[in-house]
Amino acid sequence: MSTFLPLVIAWTIIALVTFPFLLRVRVPYGRHARVGWGPQVDNHWGWFWMELPALLIFPMMTLLGPRPKDLLSWMLVGLWTLHYVNRTLIFPFRLRTRGKKMPLLIVGSAVLFNATNGVINGWWLGFAAPPDRAFPDALVILGGALFLIGMGINLRADARLIALRRHGEGYQVPHGGLFERISCPNHFGEILEWSGFAIAAWSLPALSFAVWTFCNLAPRAHDHHAWYRRTFPDYPRSRKAVVPFIW
Ligand code: NDP
Repeated sequence: MSTFLPLVIAWTIIALVTFPFLLRVRVPYGRHARVGWGPQVDNHWGWFWMELPALLIFPMMTLLGPRPKDLLSWMLVGLWTLHYVNRTLIFPFRLRTRGKKMPLLIVGSAVLFNATNGVINGWWLGFAAPPDRAFPDALVILGGALFLIGMGINLRADARLIALRRHGEGYQVPHGGLFERISCPNHFGEILEWSGFAIAAWSLPALSFAVWTFCNLAPRAHDHHAWYRRTFPDYPRSRKAVVPFIW
């Protein structure tokens, strides 16, 4: 434990240091794909392999660790599993992108991130967290609600984007719901999800995951937003990138 928390703090600082770098470098996948990033793999299977460590590691460590399985542990494992069953097993195979590839480098980095994040959170909840929290308390109710709202926003936005390719079309301007306010409601929803998870879990590892999610997704949304503005001259000027009315 004496080395675990400093390691989690160091891991969180890496996210904060990476943030300004990610604001400058467009991650080369999807609409930003370009050559020069090494070998490429099919994007459907890329998504599957990237997310698989997250789906497996956190629930297994939490449930197999010696710490008593309280209701909070079951709830957090349930929320996490709900998210990652979709992200690993459903989302990749709903994408209507034929022949699209992503760099192996991105897949490798995401595997590393998801494995580390799974181990950190799984170690905390399965082996180390103090046992004596009331359930449900205000944090659990607030965080759980935020997670579910975020997940709803994320799923709806992903579904709307995927539907844009129903007839094999290329990129279009998405409309409806939160798309009228921001370019990337899917990323906004995901940031809400893991912020809610961090509030419910009230632990440094979960906070570190929420910080990583923001530092990773806000720059992606920033790039997507700039791309929409460049690509569609009549793109609605009032839309923000990722946080309604703010950014
Ligand atoms: P995107 O919005 O870039 O793409 C999602 C899918 O929709 C892709 O198939 C994309 O095609 C298609 N698409 C997007 N915009 C349009 C458009 N305007 N017209 C037609 N098709 C479009 O999402 P990401 O790939 O960045 O992320 C996917 C999901 O994964 C999101 O829910 C995100 O929150 C989550 N995620 C979470 C991360 C985390 O750190 N927790 C990290 C990364 C993603 P194409 O691929 O051809 O662009």
